Amino acid sequence: MPHAKAAPRLSRLQNEILEAIARGEALRDVTERLCRRVQEITPSAICSVIGVDGERRLRPLAAPDLPEHYSQALDGIEISACCGSCGTAAYRGEEVIVTDIASDPLWAPFKELPLPLGLRACWSSPIKARDGRVVGTFAFYYRDCRGPSELELAIVQTCVHLCAVAIEHAEMQSRAHRLAYFDTLTGLANRAQFGAAFERMIVAEKPCFGLLLIDIDQLKLTNDTMGHAVGDALIATVGRRLRRLAIGGLPCRIGGDEFAILLEGCSEAAALRDAAHAVLSAMVTPFQHDGHTVTPRVTIGGVLSGEDGRDAVTLRQNADFALYHAKEQKRGGYIRFKSGLRTSIMQRIQTVRRVDEALSEERIAPYYQPVVRLDTAEIIGLEALARMRSRDGRMIAAGEFQEALTDPKVAYRLTGQMIAAVAADMRAWLDGGFHFQQVGLNVTSADFQKGDLAARIVKAFEKVEVPLRHLVVEVTESVFLAERNQSVARNVRELRSRGALIALDDFGTGYASLTHLLQFPVDVIKVDRSFVERVQTDKQSSAIVEALILIADRLGMKIIAEGIETGAQAEHVLAMGCRLGQGYHYSKPVPKHLASDLLRRFGQRPGSRRIVPALPFEASAA
Ligand code: GH3
Ligand code: MG
Repeated sequence: MPHAKAAPRLSRLQNEILEAIARGEALRDVTERLCRRVQEITPSAICSVIGVDGERRLRPLAAPDLPEHYSQALDGIEISACCGSCGTAAYRGEEVIVTDIASDPLWAPFKELPLPLGLRACWSSPIKARDGRVVGTFAFYYRDCRGPSELELAIVQTCVHLCAVAIEHAEMQSRAHRLAYFDTLTGLANRAQFGAAFERMIVAEKPCFGLLLIDIDQLKLTNDTMGHAVGDALIATVGRRLRRLAIGGLPCRIGGDEFAILLEGCSEAAALRDAAHAVLSAMVTPFQHDGHTVTPRVTIGGVLSGEDGRDAVTLRQNADFALYHAKEQKRGGYIRFKSGLRTSIMQRIQTVRRVDEALSEERIAPYYQPVVRLDTAEIIGLEALARMRSRDGRMIAAGEFQEALTDPKVAYRLTGQMIAAVAADMRAWLDGGFHFQQVGLNVTSADFQKGDLAARIVKAFEKVEVPLRHLVVEVTESVFLAERNQSVARNVRELRSRGALIALDDFGTGYASLTHLLQFPVDVIKVDRSFVERVQTDKQSSAIVEALILIADRLGMKIIAEGIETGAQAEHVLAMGCRLGQGYHYSKPVPKHLASDLLRRFGQRPGSRRIVPALPFEASAA
């Protein structure tokens, strides 16, 4: 057929292919359609389109008149300088005409493929994207040993262009799909894909799947202390480790540092737990980034479809509750949702909100409980205890809002306000000539998390010019023991070097042992009230603590017994070597003005001897 007569057919072909692309037809279908139309125009040629992927490997797209095994044999071959017509054309970026496959060295490794099919010659042209990348090849095979005809040259010019448009369009679509359904930082399925998969599983006739919610611990701290890039690397590492887990399921990144794994077919709590533990074990190895060594740590909550929720909203919420609860109770571990969690978490959230509001409205104030010498009942110091004033003026004891302090932000803010208030009160007592050795201030693990406790205290006390030797920072043993990043040790050292004393609070409730005392040097040990209660009846624990008190005493640490409620208890602990105490036997915590009165009347005055007052102390408004 002369070339001129082919022009309208080529133009129709072009329109048909462009329309197919615009309709969103799949790339394989578009290229197959193209090959078929071209073969109608030039029946003596067999047409093939092959893609070249990002790794420079051949990916056959369409060759309707070649057998399946032919395309399969080419799939995945890396393009090179000697790679048949197509692989070589792609490699060189220019057309390759082989008029005799049997003798041409370019075909030596592959000639057993075309020759048995009676294909003797092959002409291949590279398909180039707009940026010049070779993205594929367009080839004609001939049964004769020949090169292209005039007509075929014209066809190829059009087809190479059409193929480039089709391939680039497909690339764009796949990029858009990747952006819509995959997270760029981790390569994991993103929130949208998670939502779609979750929805599909929950509306199944018999939903049967498990869901793990995984949140990185303390990412903010990593961002703040090591930089955002390390934070990003931490997220990427967790993502990579989730992707490599051999537990099946669909791992997704559903938020900043929150991941999920949907485990289709998981119906047993034990299987869900095993999957969670596999995640936890995958995290333990540290990684390096920018000279920092980081060990990823995550906390996991889990739910099973059906048992833990039948509809999407409940199940998803319960997974959140489980994670939330795990963050509170078992950081770095796994907790599965259980009924009852909802109510207790709702209550806690309410308490957190109430305390948060009280902090904003400055309705938090210190009360003070006297610390006395057990032998003379003189007040030697005070412990500051937070009280919350309700909007109707009622004072609420810390016990009632304690659980709000498990929220690190609230705990941090509360300590901040307490530091300022206590420093101001101490300034007033010093100005008023009141005698006291120290005032105790309670801090929480949240205060150490940020790592700036010592700086906050120093700043507040410098502002009102109160020497830090008047301050005892009370740290519970659980805070000491939960130490992970040296923040406690660093802040404690800093505070001690500036003259403040450190008290080990709640001694005797947990695991405090001699080893810990030696590991964390403290100045004061506060023996817990539960021990004081027990001391008269339980000989064994009494003997152990008596020995510890003796040793601590030898190490120069002060001992204060808490929760003394009777004279008999006071005598008992005194006999055990504990010289100081506090408790209702002496005084309940009282507001500042009453504390001032107690200090004035019962405070220890150097050199003066006093008569033991009737107990408890009675304060009158000063
Ligand atoms: P927790 O231990 O309670 O999980 O606290 P956290 O510090 O990990 O903070 P949380 O999970 O409450 O919030 C996630 C934080 O992660 C918020 C944000 O500062 C940070 N973050 C979110 N997305 C990214 C990100 O893409 N890159 C980095 N570097 N940080 C992120
Ligand atoms: Mg987190």
